[in-house]
Amino acid sequence: MDKNTHQKKQETTPVTLAALGEFGFIERIRQRVRANTAVLSGIGDDCSVCTFPPGEVLLTTKDLLLEDIHFRRAWIDMYSLGWKSAAVNLSDIAAMGGSALYVHLGLGIPAATELDDLEAFMHGFLSLCDQENATLCGGDTCRSMQGLCISVTVQGSIPPAELCQRSGATPGDIIYVSGTLGDSALALLQMQEGEKPEAELALRHNRPQPRLQLGRSLASQRLASAMIDLSDGIFADLGHILTHSGCGAELDTRLIPLSAATQKHLQQQPQRRLQVLKGGEDYELLFTAPAERQQQIAQLSAKLGLPLTAVGKILPAPEGLRCIDHGGSPQTTSTGAKPDASNPGGFNHFRA
Ligand code: ADP
Ligand code: MG
Repeated sequence: MDKNTHQKKQETTPVTLAALGEFGFIERIRQRVRANTAVLSGIGDDCSVCTFPPGEVLLTTKDLLLEDIHFRRAWIDMYSLGWKSAAVNLSDIAAMGGSALYVHLGLGIPAATELDDLEAFMHGFLSLCDQENATLCGGDTCRSMQGLCISVTVQGSIPPAELCQRSGATPGDIIYVSGTLGDSALALLQMQEGEKPEAELALRHNRPQPRLQLGRSLASQRLASAMIDLSDGIFADLGHILTHSGCGAELDTRLIPLSAATQKHLQQQPQRRLQVLKGGEDYELLFTAPAERQQQIAQLSAKLGLPLTAVGKILPAPEGLRCIDHGGSPQTTSTGAKPDASNPGGFNHFRA
């Protein structure tokens, strides 16, 4: 075969994982990972070996992302998929108030997957890890017979006295959310309906920003009494706080902060409002704080350049979750104390 035919063949036949092999792929990942002296032994040995900040407690979270359950290859590019796989896990560390440290990545990959796609995935994944100073230390790579499977474990740390759990809310606390909500759900809704979302909205769905700096600041300044990341939607995730804290709440949906793009869209399509508000995957933080922290929270918001908006208040358990919508009068949608009723309109994998 002469040089030209060889070049042509390379252009038309993409390199697949089957051609490169598992170990070739792992070696490429290893070369791309940023060095970290806290990692005594990373990719390459039977276990990773990492140091740990003395006096702190270990936070560990894991999320699975399965093709056609959590994502569709047609709706998300591979860089974004890598980014999002890291983001959804880092967001859980943010929600406890912790710092992210170490990441392990399990991949089940169909043999025909193109190497370029895997490289784009790893590029997105590691770009966000680098941004948040989290180091990929190991993982596992296997062939999948059906679709791409991604399993990410992130570990972090926090001084135990600073932990922000779901159980810490008390009546009288104000409920805050960071950033704007609904952009991600609107983008997903549009893709499901065959519409093309605005680039800005699609980015919010495909490349969420985990709010680690916010979570850490709230925890270290002891501002938040309870915290959760918004993955299932505000009603469901606030419901989790109410269940764990044994409280009720009043949520004024008119106060939920929306981006200009989403506001404009909902003016044209007001019938989509509830679906957009209910939708999840914003990966913003929802937290509660005593009313006297209001000024410190405003200062933190200004410092981070991130809106922190009060959307309601925590009430005693018998009040349930009361939602105020346009029209003004509150409607009780559930009681915070009952786990099953506390997931109104959120995402549930096993519900028909
Ligand atoms: P073992 O046989 O001990 O499970 P493997 O051959 O599966 O080891 O993996 C070799 C090394 O590569 C290990 O250190 C493992 O943690 C790492 N590794 C495998 N897959 C990945 C991946 N997807 N991302 C990061 N590290 C990986
Ligand atoms: Mg292995």
